[in-house]
Amino acid sequence: MKIIHDLEKCIGCGSCVALCPEYWEMRAEDGKAHLLNSKVNSETNNEELEITDVACNQEAVAICPVQCIKIVK
Ligand code: SF4
Repeated sequence: MKIIHDLEKCIGCGSCVALCPEYWEMRAEDGKAHLLNSKVNSETNNEELEITDVACNQEAVAICPVQCIKIVK
């Protein structure tokens, strides 16, 4: 599975960080959430992280108000 975060769409509301701090953090540099240990896809500029356990990321997907977090299987 892969988590994909569309950084451009993120409005920095902080909900994903509040629900799932093991995977997400806010960064002051751009005021957005970032997916910890992810790699930036050079074509899409999305952050991507391979995972085996979805953990709290399902909740993060559900709460994100702009649907910029996806889990791809
Ligand atoms: S919940 Fe969505 S919009 Fe809010 S900070 Fe997280 S990724 Fe960004």
